[in-house]
Amino acid sequence: MEAGCEIILAPDRNPETVALLMVKTEGHIMRTGIKVTRELLAYADRLEIISRTGGGFDNVDVAAATEKRIIVTSNIGVNTNSVVEHCLSLMLALSKKLSELDSAVKKDQYAIRYQNLPRDLQNKTLGLVGFGRIGSRLGRICREIFDMDVLVYDPFLPETVKSTCCEWVEFVDLHTLVSNADVISIHVPLTETTYHAVGQKELSLMKPDALLINTSRGPVVDESALVNALKQKRIGGAGLDVLEQEPPSADHPMLGLDNVILTPHTAALTYDCVIRMATTAAECVLDVFNGKEPPNVANPEVLKTDRWTHLVSRK
Ligand code: NAD
Repeated sequence: MEAGCEIILAPDRNPETVALLMVKTEGHIMRTGIKVTRELLAYADRLEIISRTGGGFDNVDVAAATEKRIIVTSNIGVNTNSVVEHCLSLMLALSKKLSELDSAVKKDQYAIRYQNLPRDLQNKTLGLVGFGRIGSRLGRICREIFDMDVLVYDPFLPETVKSTCCEWVEFVDLHTLVSNADVISIHVPLTETTYHAVGQKELSLMKPDALLINTSRGPVVDESALVNALKQKRIGGAGLDVLEQEPPSADHPMLGLDNVILTPHTAALTYDCVIRMATTAAECVLDVFNGKEPPNVANPEVLKTDRWTHLVSRK
């Protein structure tokens, strides 16, 4: 390769294969399918950087990497617009009942047009759980294009950020949000506090026509509670790019429901975005190899250790 590095492509994502690469390599570029556990990191004596092509760190034991003074970076922000476009697609497909209308036309049931099934987003209320890069961009677009009222639940958002959007955003608690929103879209990382954050109680508070969109991480929603709510038509529908177990088992109850649209964790996997993410992840590795501090370091405390004092700071 031009940068003078040898590239080894993992033939599979089995832990034994990854363990071998941990022994052999200085930089590790990884997508979402591999879990870098403490056990795997025990092999990583030469490893300098783990560079995630995606935005989240939940498949890397960052604490264990930090103990070994391995830099962990992500591509947070690089996929924002692609995920926002995916959320909008799910919101619009569900509101406009695209699946039902498409299958009716193909079955010669053109008269479905008189049932007035599609709904508008215009002037409805959007509830955003998480108002970081993706949530805030989606909120701004829905406000500007559809005149939607925007409710936000994000207890960790700094006051300085809140004050920049208080004219068009109402910050509320989670139960107020789920009770009042027509479309709820989730944009939080998977952490101990967000695990099953949308569960039976939250689903029971949703309006009967409200839609739930999850492009964050599957376990943020209690999936069996959601299956029940969808089966009993207690909510309007769901658009899910992520599931608790990916891929789902062949008998997963969600697969038989017609009021859910499922996509295989592809919000950021557009043709354009994968090129952007792979390039940026590779640049992070090259930064470290070339003595420069990479962007989006998940464990900045390692940069202060004697292993990394030589890195040229980004500031
Ligand atoms: P971000 O870090 O910019 O924003 C996350 C927001 O969540 C922050 O504002 C934070 O304060 C808030 N938050 C954290 N814990 C919370 C809690 N308990 N309750 C409410 N808010 C909380 O991240 P982002 O770029 O907007 O991405 C959001 C998530 O989307 C990522 O963590 C990742 O899991 C997921 N994601 C999925 C895909 C995909 O392909 N489906 C792609 C990119 C990101």
